[in-house]
Formats: sequence, structure tokens, C-alpha cells
Amino acid sequence: MIDRLLVIGVGLIGGSLARALRSARHVREVVGFGRSLGNLQEAMELGVIDRAAVSLADAVQGADMIVLAVPVGTMPEMLQELGPVCPATAVITDVGSVKGTVIAAARQSLGAKFVHFVPGHPIAGTEQSGVGASLPELFVNRRVVLTPEAETDPVAIESVRGLWTATGAQVTTMSAVKHDEILAASSHLPHVLAFALVDLLVRRDDHREVFDCVAGGFRDFTRIAGSDPVMWRDICLANRDGILEILNQYRDSLADVVQAIEQGDGQWLLETFMRAKHARDNFNRKLGLNLPEA
Ligand code: NAP
Repeated sequence: MIDRLLVIGVGLIGGSLARALRSARHVREVVGFGRSLGNLQEAMELGVIDRAAVSLADAVQGADMIVLAVPVGTMPEMLQELGPVCPATAVITDVGSVKGTVIAAARQSLGAKFVHFVPGHPIAGTEQSGVGASLPELFVNRRVVLTPEAETDPVAIESVRGLWTATGAQVTTMSAVKHDEILAASSHLPHVLAFALVDLLVRRDDHREVFDCVAGGFRDFTRIAGSDPVMWRDICLANRDGILEILNQYRDSLADVVQAIEQGDGQWLLETFMRAKHARDNFNRKLGLNLPEA
């Protein structure tokens, strides 16, 4: 049970976490802090937070758990502000989609309090943003990855594990390096491809006719291009190496497809598509068709 939870960035993920913990009665009081008072006002009206803090120094007062749920590119400055004012006993965690850069920033800014920082990432979300889109059930049966460092306090890890378990999520741990490599392939690559595809098509002179003729495949493939551009810009910059590595592999794989089409190699195309269909069908069976989001 958390006595006072501070959520920094009460948007889709921060708001959903607060709602889930309230539903589970895992928290007594939720304090919100963020950029715009309008958003925090909405969060109060929706019953997501009990009160909004006007400054970070005010926000951290008496907090026993602090969750950073701002875009990844904003985490370093937020951690820098947090370092000097954060209570020495508070457990700090984050929900950022990239772990390496957030951990480096936390190590630099939190000093001795770094041992109480438990990096985390819920593999759940939607393409919508803001507290208005938050859902208490967002994390049920979804995976949350914690990427503690060697010096992370085991008691802090257990309280963050308890927080996510209370939301209905399944908590696992892995190294930050592995996390960033895996997520580059499973989440960051598909988002980059969706943005690039829509942008390619919209720059055509006949894009209206193209969009008039879209079918289910286009809708499925590009739904995630409706995601927040700021969040995805930050993820691309923060996970630069992981994303470049998988993008280069994808480019090689596309080059193989181009070559097969140029050479009329139907056998290669059929074998490749069958292998992919088989793998996708197996995932569908395993996951009950509900592939998780970012
Ligand atoms: P969101 O709905 O846009 O919420 C972001 C929140 O951060 C908003 O409340 C925003 O406040 C606040 N914020 C933004 N810039 C700020 C700044 N400079 N100072 C203080 N507050 C600031 O985004 P989200 O989808 O919840 O994403 C939040 C984090 O979760 C990101 O790190 C993302 O990588 C991670 N994540 C997202 C997903 C997903 O599918 N969306 C999934 C897993 C993890 P305002 O409302 O005032 O702008």
C-alpha cells in the first residue's frame, strides 16, 4: 500500500497508473505534477488525482512513491530538478519506453538516491495521449519490464513490483540493454515504419485518391501513426543505436524483397510470406489476437 503517490506527468500512462492503483485500493493519496495546470485540473475533475502541486518542491513533500511519466526526452531535466528535492526515503520509478538514457540521467542527477530508482516500462498503451484517454484497466494482463541496476535497492524493486502487480500487470525484469534492443524490434521499428509509410503517401500529388482507396490492411498497419509525435521523436533519439540497428536489418530485408520482385522470383516471395504468415498465426494463437502496444 502506497501512502502518497506522486505522478509527474499525468497523461495516458501516468493517469492510467493512478486510476488502476485507486481501483485496487493500493494508494491512499495521489498528487499530480506536470506542465500545464489545465491538464492537472482535468485530472482532478476526472478523479485521477486528489490534488495538483504547483511546484516540484511542493509535489514531493511526504511522497513515498514517485512515478515519472513524462516523455523520454523530458526525463533528464525532470530528474535534474528532482534530485535535490526528492525525499531520501522515496522510491522513484519511471515508465519511459527507453531505459538506457533514462538510467544514465537518473544516475547523474539522483546521487545517493539512485539506489531507490527502479527503472520500469509498461508494455501497454494506445495511440492516444493525455489524461482524458487514461484507463484503469490499461495494464491488466500486460507486461511490465523492470530494469534495475546492480546497486538498486531490493526493497525498492519489491515496492515497484507490488505497484504494478496491483494494476493487474505481469512484472518481469531484464537488463536495460536487452530491453532497449528488444523494444527497438518489437515496438520502435513498427512505429517508425507506420509514420514513414503515411508520410510517404501523403506527400504524393494524388494522396487524396490513395487515401480514398485504403482498405483494412492500410488501417491496421498505420493505426499507430496516430501516436504522439513528440513521444516518438524522443524514443528515436533516446534509443538511437537500437533503432538504427533494426532499421538497417529491415532495409536489407526490403532489398531482398525488391530483388525478388525485380527478378520475378515467385518461389522466394511465397516462401518468405508463408514463413511470416506462419509466425504471425502462431503469435495470434498464443496471444489471443491481442498484441500489446508500445
Ligand atoms: P502523454 O499522454 O502525452 O502524457 C505525458 C504527460 O507528461 C502529460 O501529462 C504532459 O503534461 C507531461 N509533460 C510533457 N512534457 C512535460 C514537461 N516538459 N514537463 C512536465 N510535464 C510534461 O504521454 P504518455 O503516452 O502517457 O507517455 C508518457 C511516458 O510513458 C513516455 O515516457 C512514454 O515513453 C511512456 N510510455 C508510453 C506508452 C504509450 O503507448 N503511450 C506506453 C508505455 C510507455 P501536459 O498534459 O501538460 O502536456
